[in-house]
Amino acid sequence: MQILDLKLVNFRNYSQLNLSFSKNNIIYGKNGMGKQKEGDLKTPKGLFYITKAFGIKENPGTKLKYIKVTENLYACDDDCKYYNQIIDSKKTKHECKGEHLIDYVPQYNYAMCIDFNSENIYPKGSNIFIHVMGKKKYTAGCIALDEESMIAVLKNSTKKTKIYIY
Ligand SMILES: [Zn+2]
Repeated sequence: MQILDLKLVNFRNYSQLNLSFSKNNIIYGKNGMGKQKEGDLKTPKGLFYITKAFGIKENPGTKLKYIKVTENLYACDDDCKYYNQIIDSKKTKHECKGEHLIDYVPQYNYAMCIDFNSENIYPKGSNIFIHVMGKKKYTAGCIALDEESMIAVLKNSTKKTKIYIY
């Protein structure tokens, strides 16, 4: 098993990827670690599979399933049956919409989904992604890396890759 280990305690990455994360190139939830519920601005701790990737930019060479972001994609964070899922509004009728992915540049230039709250139970937390850093020094619960690191992580990840967040 390949484990992609983003060590948020000492900010050093796992040697398998040979990437080095420091406080300058990794950020996480504004309120720290240990997500409890939707909107708490915390990043979940644990060992997670990377389930798929998506991006506004073209697939940089990942073997993960890669969804090219279009105008029609939304990530639902409301109390509805599509909670914690990415929905194509052209294919699925979806009243509450949610986060319009294509509006988040550079964050969703490249992003990966993890199997956090994979049963999609509201309000345990939704749409925890690994994505590209924006201007802020924190996220609403995701993990964000600089774009170059994100590309490297994508290229080195498969559906067997796990990410350990602690
Ligand atoms: Zn919804």
